[in-house]
Amino acid sequence: MSPEITLPILAHIIQPSRESLTQDWQDRKITGIETDTRVLKPGEVFVALVGEKFDGHHFLENAVRSRASALILNQDFSGTIPDEIPQFYVQNTLTAYQKIAHWWRQQHQIPVIGITGSVGKTTTKELIAGVLSRYGKVLKTEGNYNNEIGVPKTLLRLNAEHDYAVVEMAMRAKGEIAQLTDITQPTIGLITNVGTAHIGRLGSRSAIAQAKCELLAQMPKTATAILNHDNQRLINTAATVWEGNTLTYGLEGGDIHGRLIDSETLAVDDFNFPLPLAGTHNASNYLAAITVAKALNLDLTPLQAGIEVTLPGARSRRHVLPNDILFLDETYNAGVESMIASLQLLKDTPGKRHLAVLGTMKELGSESASLHSQVGDTIARLHLDHLLVLVDEPETEAIATAATAIKSECFEDKNALVNRLREILTPGDRVLFKASHSVGLDQVLAQFIN
Ligand code: ATP
Ligand code: MG
Repeated sequence: MSPEITLPILAHIIQPSRESLTQDWQDRKITGIETDTRVLKPGEVFVALVGEKFDGHHFLENAVRSRASALILNQDFSGTIPDEIPQFYVQNTLTAYQKIAHWWRQQHQIPVIGITGSVGKTTTKELIAGVLSRYGKVLKTEGNYNNEIGVPKTLLRLNAEHDYAVVEMAMRAKGEIAQLTDITQPTIGLITNVGTAHIGRLGSRSAIAQAKCELLAQMPKTATAILNHDNQRLINTAATVWEGNTLTYGLEGGDIHGRLIDSETLAVDDFNFPLPLAGTHNASNYLAAITVAKALNLDLTPLQAGIEVTLPGARSRRHVLPNDILFLDETYNAGVESMIASLQLLKDTPGKRHLAVLGTMKELGSESASLHSQVGDTIARLHLDHLLVLVDEPETEAIATAATAIKSECFEDKNALVNRLREILTPGDRVLFKASHSVGLDQVLAQFIN
């Protein structure tokens, strides 16, 4: 059974600088912790978070009207709210929220899997949740709830029925993964890979590797690290911060060595597992999920029947058009590693011709041109049939320049790109759409599928 959280316990967790409590406060029933008055239910504590674009303190009347059991507010607001509702004043409401989530997580002694990495976090999280749901009830990160607000929100959804929790942790800067790990207290810490995502902000590959490995440095010493053996930089960096239990997985080697029998089957030990998602990169992600099951000493036999997963958003989505034309929709996001993985998936997809419609990979800083060139090199190596590039930053053109001997065209205008694609599409074509989300390649794709 989940523990009861009472106002005295809450005060003990968040250590407010001031409290304003009504008579009945000792017995007040707290039914949850909420940061959004639009979904706040009677009996829940309202925490007024302050973000760049919002300030929960503007909605206090709504919280009172919705019969919140108490308010947690910034100390500057002290004295502005009528005394009819218990109030706790703190220096930082986000920190208070995180402390409550940490406490709540500690009351649920179940395996908690924390996941980070440059690419493949959400996919691997969904695959792990898919695997573990064969064995029990799983709580997993929903949507983009993977940051300093989202992780506590996820943990606060834990209840007595959950057997496992799978928590995605994202970062934009150094120190963030350490903080999320402190809150989450994972029993298993999994890093999918370290690459170049956000290199514009972090400065170097080694800074990125260090930042991801904060998960290992910060998790309890009794936890198990699960690491991608095929990512040498990850393995090297991990060794500098973690000496505890470790299981590596990989398609090239590792403690749990997976072998692709064909594009649909992964062999591990004496088992053959049907792959739930296409692409070698997703085979690696699935192997990570199987490794989690092994780390938990689960019998892998039920997984031989396969699992079903549907990824949220435009990740690995397929659209079948008339005339046997197939669109691979990867318009959700793009970095160099995921571009290369998706181009390989395109090439491995049987069809008459292979076309790529690509756009800018954002946030790559001074490495932008060279990383865009690397994508072009890959296209040349794979001998794709046609490349269309939507250019919204000068560096993007490097894709086309590097894709030597490939028929390539650049566009600055989405409509021109749509018109050209209409002209050249022929039956049997396989077409990959991929760029950073803000490029809006989804609008190009929408012209064909709606
Ligand atoms: P975000 O930073 O947006 O949270 P993420 O790390 O959660 O990203 P996913 O959403 O799982 O990553 O995957 C993003 C894209 O990266 C996928 O659509 C796919 O193209 C690619 N990808 C997924 N897994 C891998 C992998 N193991 N190696 C390389 N590319 C991958
Ligand atoms: Mg994600």
